[in-house]
Amino acid sequence: MPRRRSSKIEEQLAVFIVLVAVSCYFLFPNLPKLISNIIFWCLPLVAIVCLVFIAIIVFLKKKDAPIVNYSQMVHQRFSQTPKSPDSRSPSPIHPSRNYVPQKPLHLDPPQAKRLHFNGNTLRRIDWLYFELLTEELFKKMNFVVKKTHAGADGGVDIELFANEDSTKPSALIQCKARATSPIGVDKVRELFGVMAAMNVNQGILVCNTEFTHDAKAFANNNPKIKLGDLHWLEAQLSKLPQEIITNLESKYLDKEFDVPSCPQCERKLTLRKGKFGAFWGCRNFPKCHCKMNIQREYKLNHAT
Ligand SMILES: [Zn+2]
Repeated sequence: MPRRRSSKIEEQLAVFIVLVAVSCYFLFPNLPKLISNIIFWCLPLVAIVCLVFIAIIVFLKKKDAPIVNYSQMVHQRFSQTPKSPDSRSPSPIHPSRNYVPQKPLHLDPPQAKRLHFNGNTLRRIDWLYFELLTEELFKKMNFVVKKTHAGADGGVDIELFANEDSTKPSALIQCKARATSPIGVDKVRELFGVMAAMNVNQGILVCNTEFTHDAKAFANNNPKIKLGDLHWLEAQLSKLPQEIITNLESKYLDKEFDVPSCPQCERKLTLRKGKFGAFWGCRNFPKCHCKMNIQREYKLNHAT
């Protein structure tokens, strides 16, 4: 409706102008000549005034313009809070060819803090790292071991053999990497079932937390089952020579030690942003479509 209204006003205005022009023509027949004379004489004067006015504006603008200090500008921008490393947007600074920084920019990443095996790191360790560490631990204890590819949660993780020539495992090891909650009796029964299916007489369940009372009671009544909790793991690691511990720490406590591995392809997962928030996605995408929720403990340990 407002469009119609405005067009109506325009029509009325046009009619009014025509009427005024016609009445002026009849009332003052010499008016057009007078107007043309005025325009002819006034036009150069108006042009000169405009040019002078523009010249004054340009002069005033130049006087008020700040002197750009490039060095100061770069320093100010670098002093701002840095963006997260995941940010894909390019740096806002594009130094011109003439700009030479007075001081070299320190862009080296900060030295990663060296981590050691303890209750905190062993609780947070990635499930795959935990399995590999357990495998290495049993190797150092002079067992013949073979890691299987059972994934994050299923089947048996490591097989122990009496000697190199053995084809049938003598014992099965199941690893359970969890950040907080203790391992229940259901996991012990699960291992017992796998032992029966594979006709293996010995089973070891290793975890990086604790076992529930029921799980301990079940293991106590079944001499074929051995349980190794966080304290057992710490004690076994402390028995190793310092050189081996240092080697294992540099191998399994790297900067991504608490980043979970993909249960399907065993490559490290990476943080991705989705419609409903952040999640773990496989680095092997699009070949692997594995997704996982971010653990509460990881969020707590990496909260900034
Ligand atoms: Zn994957």
